[in-house]
Amino acid sequence: MDLKAFSNLCINPYPEITALRKYFSDNDKSVFLTTEFAEMSYIQKFQYFIHNYMKIYQAIAQQYPDKVEQLVDVMQFVAPLGTISLTFNGLKPSIKLLGTPEQFKKWYELIYSGRLIGAYAQTEIGHGSDVQSLQLTATYNPETKTFVLNSPSTRSIKFWPGNLGMQATHCVCQAQTYINGKHHGLHTFVVPIRDPKTFKQYEGVEAGDIGSKLAYSWGDNGFLKLTNYHIPRENLLMKYFKVEEDGTVSSKGDKNAIKIGYGGMLGLRVTLSVYFLAETFRGAVLAYRQWKRSSELDSIKRRRLLKSFSFVYTGMMTLRSMTLMMRSFNENIHKNPKKALEEMVELHLLASAYKSLYSWTLTYCLREYGVDQSVGNLLTTGITGLYGDTIPGATYEGENSVMLQQTARGLCKFMQDVENEEFKKVPEAFKFLVDLRELLDKADEMKGNVERVEDLLNYEKIEELIDTIALFNVKECYELMKMHIVGGNSVNVTWNDKTQGRMVEMALEVSRGLTYKMSKQILFDNEKRKALGEKEVTLLKGLLLVHGLDVLHRNVNLASRFKIGGNPERLIALIGEAQEILAKKLEGSLDDIVEGHPFYEEELYYVRDFKAWSPVEGTSDRVKRSIIEKESFINTFSPKL
Ligand SMILES: Cc1cc2nc3c(=O)[nH]c(=O)nc-3n(C[C@H](O)[C@H](O)[C@H](O)COP(=O)(O)OP(=O)(O)OC[C@H]3O[C@@H](n4cnc5c(N)ncnc54)[C@H](O)[C@@H]3O)c2cc1C
Repeated sequence: MDLKAFSNLCINPYPEITALRKYFSDNDKSVFLTTEFAEMSYIQKFQYFIHNYMKIYQAIAQQYPDKVEQLVDVMQFVAPLGTISLTFNGLKPSIKLLGTPEQFKKWYELIYSGRLIGAYAQTEIGHGSDVQSLQLTATYNPETKTFVLNSPSTRSIKFWPGNLGMQATHCVCQAQTYINGKHHGLHTFVVPIRDPKTFKQYEGVEAGDIGSKLAYSWGDNGFLKLTNYHIPRENLLMKYFKVEEDGTVSSKGDKNAIKIGYGGMLGLRVTLSVYFLAETFRGAVLAYRQWKRSSELDSIKRRRLLKSFSFVYTGMMTLRSMTLMMRSFNENIHKNPKKALEEMVELHLLASAYKSLYSWTLTYCLREYGVDQSVGNLLTTGITGLYGDTIPGATYEGENSVMLQQTARGLCKFMQDVENEEFKKVPEAFKFLVDLRELLDKADEMKGNVERVEDLLNYEKIEELIDTIALFNVKECYELMKMHIVGGNSVNVTWNDKTQGRMVEMALEVSRGLTYKMSKQILFDNEKRKALGEKEVTLLKGLLLVHGLDVLHRNVNLASRFKIGGNPERLIALIGEAQEILAKKLEGSLDDIVEGHPFYEEELYYVRDFKAWSPVEGTSDRVKRSIIEKESFINTFSPKL
């Protein structure tokens, strides 16, 4: 297997997606994002996504009729779909996980016959990360057998959800639920908002577009206000919480089973991580080509790119592991719910961290490739557009700092498990906390001394250093948390006020270190790395070391504080030396590394050849349009002279 095939295997969740991409590359390239996209108007972009949605759905239905459900969930990996794909990866998972089988069957038929376009409408103007404070109310009326929905204040208006402004016929909403005067907390409802034939809003519904945005202009982001709006009782998703016609309430399943229901957005978080990573890959390829064409590719640029590609390839392998874990979780939800629950804890903590790590790194890399380079500011290079469109990735589907706080919280809890010798409670990915626990007694001694540069070209040694730093990093945060709680602060104040910054920093670095471990596991396992050729394995192992050294370099201050890796100045010098050795070794292979990308040529924006470029002969429409009609221009001014 060559690098390109391996990248496709890692990035595309199913082989059928790779085959569909090939099908469109051979038969209808118009589905791919090309240079024209940058110059399209909002309406043209919108139409482009809708056409893609229909074409890709049809291709799936014709070529894989037995796998429609599985494949449409990930059809945005074939070609971009904008917000419209939220029907399948926003609304549908909620119905599947929180609805009864009968409810799912009913909505399934509407979804898969194209009569339902969906939105996932959780966020309100005043309530984003703080889900528990959502204000939309659903009050049951036993006489009409309906729930009456109301947005009681401006802050309770749903705001931002994709598809909601123009396209959605239905959305899933969380609402504070009241039955017979009693408050039952938040529950999830399917809410019809527009007639699927006319797209006219129903009475009691006010919805629309939230207005122009910095970028992401093609996204249909909307608002929704509901006033005395009745929906049938059956629209409450009742797998775990049932309301009878007369208003009798019963709960089904234990607390743990209910938690699985909230795993609905996990899949989307993993999918988004893959999307962010793929776009970083695209940006790196574009930058490479652009830099190569416009100037000499000097060694500074080569090294910056090597670092980016090391991040991209290790990220790809890490996310391959995540996709496989996600698949196992989905299978176990029905086969083995106890196992699914264990998997969910690990998946949730990793997906929260990776969604954040990859969305932040994407904008960081694109800024470095494009926005900081004059030529990258041209829309036709594709880089600036990608940059703008991906900035909100840090906010949607879980604000990054809040997500990382959750990962940090899990890590502190596992440190407590280690302290209590409850080792079995620590999931596989975080087992280094158990394996290295004896080092905690050696806080004042030097650990993992690095003596020679060869130590830093050794995969095992790098892993040991990364793990040791992570162990002490988690331990320090755990102690900090305990100190605030013992000092009289509540858990909430401790988390949200006293420790947030430090916790976010810790979770980010620990998860960065985990990408080294997870990609190493794939690369050093014949079965997992598939039939990847020897030459390719050698290249990827080189990139793995580049990535490992980058992680160490970023953590050198922590290493010094925790007495890890020897004298800090010497450690920095040796890391630099090792980076130099690797750069020399890999620089000559940069072309092979770049060409291992998973894209078709038409998916890479047009990159202008600056050496041959001339404004008059330029191929861009904009250049042709911008030539001033001299006659009328001069006539405008001359009479006044
Ligand atoms: C392009 C785009 C698409 C979106 N699509 C959807 C969608 O389809 N459906 C949907 O329901 N929503 C959607 N959203 C909304 C998105 O999920 C929310 O914006 C997000 O959850 C953050 O909420 P917020 O904007 O209210 O910010 P807040 O949660 O108020 O966060 C603002 C700041 O406060 C900090 N903060 C928040 N909580 C804490 C805490 N406990 N402790 C310490 N600091 C904290 C955060 O770190 C952040 O810096 C979308 C948003 C965007 C930008």
